Amino acid sequence: MPEPRVPLVVGNWKMNPDGVDAAIQLARDVAEAAAGLPVRIVVCPPAIWLTNVAWAVGGSSAEPGRLGIGAQTMHAADRGAFTGELSPLMLAGTVDYVILGHSERRQYDNETDAGVAAKVAAAVAHGLRPIAAVGERIDERRAGLTSTVIERQVRAAISGLSRIAGSGLAVAYEPVWAIGTGEAASGEDAQAAAAQIRSILAESDPLGAAEVPILYGGSCTPANAPEFFSQPDMDGALVGGASLDAASFAAIVRAAAARSR
Ligand code: PEP
Repeated sequence: MPEPRVPLVVGNWKMNPDGVDAAIQLARDVAEAAAGLPVRIVVCPPAIWLTNVAWAVGGSSAEPGRLGIGAQTMHAADRGAFTGELSPLMLAGTVDYVILGHSERRQYDNETDAGVAAKVAAAVAHGLRPIAAVGERIDERRAGLTSTVIERQVRAAISGLSRIAGSGLAVAYEPVWAIGTGEAASGEDAQAAAAQIRSILAESDPLGAAEVPILYGGSCTPANAPEFFSQPDMDGALVGGASLDAASFAAIVRAAAARSR
């Protein structure tokens, strides 16, 4: 019997807040509000403040009840002529987690399935825990392609991993139409996606698949979080807007702590 999965709640701050002092304060408030809860809690500040935030909260931790720090993206290569990029080597000393394949990176920065695959493999090779984001756009959903898109993106994301067990992988199901719109998916739709994701992972590694936290992302709030966390394959959330308010984010973390398994 695999160990029960520890819930994981990740705050994606995107290009917020405006200044380093506010970033440090937000991280401290989150750390304090969520201290000791049986949840892995991660905040992903803008790259320029990763070290400030990590130092301010005493470093990044993957332990439940302590604050983990994550990057919002990274390059797959260890070093090279890639202007503006951060490498896994650079991140490895400062953060434990990295979001890869976020839909905004796919949409605005031409991130491809192959690119996400290379980044996931590079993250694992450097001991970083990748949070691979997948999900369909509204046109794909309307065309009935939700499960096709999820399958393609998940298979690609894990294609460079020799095994899933012990990799630290998490997968976030983020329907693109739900991100930042106030229109979240239903718990039922999120569970269907999560079950599909877990069964794809299980094809290559059944035990490893049981370990992987699967998160919901897309207008997650304290009000709707319990519905997601009550689904059998949903283990947490990737939170954008609500993660910028420590009280709201902490309420989502508490909802994850309260889920029963
Ligand atoms: C996100 O950016 O990953 C996200 C889920 O944003 P929001 O919670 O604001 O929809």
